[in-house]
Amino acid sequence: MRKEVSAVEEDRLVMPGQRTEDEDVSLRPKQLKEYVGQEKVRSSLEVYIQAALARHDALDHMLLYGPPGLGKTTLAAIVAAEMGQSIRVTSGPAIEKPGDLASILTNLAPGDVLFIDEIHRLSRSVEEVLYPAMEDYALDIMIGKGPTARSIRLDLPKFTLIGATTRAGRLSAPLRDRFGITFRLEMYSPEELCRIVSRSAGILNVQYDRDGLMEIASRSRGTPRIANRMLKRVRDYAQVRYDGRITLDVAREALDMIDVDILGLDRVDRAVLDAMISKFGGGPVGLDTLAAVTGEDAVTIEDVYEPYLMQLGFIMRTPRGRMATPAAYEHMGKKPPEGYATPETVQTSLLEE
Ligand code: ADP
Repeated sequence: MRKEVSAVEEDRLVMPGQRTEDEDVSLRPKQLKEYVGQEKVRSSLEVYIQAALARHDALDHMLLYGPPGLGKTTLAAIVAAEMGQSIRVTSGPAIEKPGDLASILTNLAPGDVLFIDEIHRLSRSVEEVLYPAMEDYALDIMIGKGPTARSIRLDLPKFTLIGATTRAGRLSAPLRDRFGITFRLEMYSPEELCRIVSRSAGILNVQYDRDGLMEIASRSRGTPRIANRMLKRVRDYAQVRYDGRITLDVAREALDMIDVDILGLDRVDRAVLDAMISKFGGGPVGLDTLAAVTGEDAVTIEDVYEPYLMQLGFIMRTPRGRMATPAAYEHMGKKPPEGYATPETVQTSLLEE
């Protein structure tokens, strides 16, 4: 069944943070061996999982960080499946009060995986419930009020907490220290994304040429969620305008139509680069100023747009703000001013600051 491609969905196409009802559960790999890329993470996990299984023990608590849409939730579900356990999925903003977390924890079965997405958004008081739960598998409950108040300790089953966040630096230090395993997910190469979309095309029963899929992969900003979404939009286009097969020309036409350029940059990416170049002479310019000029949210720029622009080498962070590189000028069809130079040594890690 074909859905109309609305303006809203087009916006969402490159917003890896947003999950739409469009996201197909069937496209999620269920086993570690189907999980494409992230070789280092996969091989370490294989060892940890085998070791925990052999000891009949729960896996250590695990923190996954990296930009949205790279497969953190998928990986958590795979870990639970490989451990032969069930998974309970929630998120930082959904757990409002300590009592909400207490009820989740007391309902866990031994060995269960508890996945908390956006774990950096837990409130301080909720975090404090988590500390003894992670460390001693215990829940401290206050009974009564005032001078007669006392705390009792309830035992919890041994469980595995998997936390996901866009940046590890956003977590409070005490919480971060309580994770035994920490993995950073990397952006995917076009070849890896091509493997992901060809698997998805198989599941969705779409005919394709490899270079058609490669075109989708190379415009997907290193992000599987975006690659799968683009695949569906290109499939719609192929079905309505052509015979349903995704060829190179069909993929190009469809992606041009939704305003995604050859590197996967969309309107907002280009607006950010354009503002830096035309309004601030390439920078340095502060994040809040960029947000104000482009009308985007500063956090969205930092979490969604900037990581990819930095990966492409189009933006650099300097102590005085962001700068556009000569490569960004070139991509935007502009010439850097005479003697324009970006510092080479000060680019900080985009995930840890
Ligand atoms: P995150 O939790 O990091 O935002 P998700 O786990 O929800 O990302 O992944 C988004 C989508 O991308 C999933 O539905 C899945 O289909 C696909 N995906 C992510 N990582 C992989 C991978 N390594 N291999 C295959 N598909 C993946």
